[in-house]
Amino acid sequence: MALMKKFPSEASSSSAIRPDYLSPSSVKSYLSCSLRFFFERVAQIRKPTTVALHVGKVIHATLQSFNFTRWRGEDYSKDAMETAFSSHFQELEKLEGPVDYADEETRQKVLSCTWNTIKAYMDSDEVFSQMPLGVEVGLSASIPGLPVPVRGVIDLVQHDLTAVDYKSAAAKPDTGHAAFDHELQLVTYQMMIEEATGDTPPSLDLIYLVKTKTPQVIRVKIPPADNQRKQRITDLYKIACEGITTERFHPQPGMQCTWCQYRKECSEWCNK
Ligand code: SF4
Repeated sequence: MALMKKFPSEASSSSAIRPDYLSPSSVKSYLSCSLRFFFERVAQIRKPTTVALHVGKVIHATLQSFNFTRWRGEDYSKDAMETAFSSHFQELEKLEGPVDYADEETRQKVLSCTWNTIKAYMDSDEVFSQMPLGVEVGLSASIPGLPVPVRGVIDLVQHDLTAVDYKSAAAKPDTGHAAFDHELQLVTYQMMIEEATGDTPPSLDLIYLVKTKTPQVIRVKIPPADNQRKQRITDLYKIACEGITTERFHPQPGMQCTWCQYRKECSEWCNK
């Protein structure tokens, strides 16, 4: 399969194939399956948005509105937030859809369940009276030996520098697995905060909004990384960067194939 030398925004090319910067999500995607990364981010083959992805984006956008509104001292009542939620739900359907709902009844159920989950967060103890230091904080970090910077946007930075990332999930997360699964993202946030402030955040937190019948809000606290953990992440960035710039894209079959939307394209792949 001929590989197109074209990168979207984050990976827009400054040389033929070299991205301008890397993000934790792009590197995680590349390491998970380099061929799926190619289909999604290089060839940019569009697929219908899954319901889970749509719900995750709507939750993220609504919590962003909620945190910004609180920060600015504006109206963050449930009514105001329900209006913001409805608007995000519809806008994201238009912008990133079509969403693969089975039918309109399913769509209505998804709408109602997502709003109930967001309400559970707004009613929870996770909404501190103390204002965060920043909302949607865009930062970068320079990794020695990496030819491009690493950039990311942290959902929330608490007053004590704790980095917080929101996740939506269908079931209660396993704490140890959650920490392991999101290590690349969280340690990157730590490195970005350290570069920006000179201080180490006291904790790297995930806040799960669990879309069960009775929604749950669960905070998973992960201690900041030591040098060995940071070195491990640094090495992953270097491996991914080298693989992308040398166009090393190949199938990596595994559990992820179960929900991969590029199985047809993948089955036609050969290394020519
Ligand atoms: S089907 Fe599996 S191996 Fe093929 S692109 Fe998707 S994730 Fe990769």
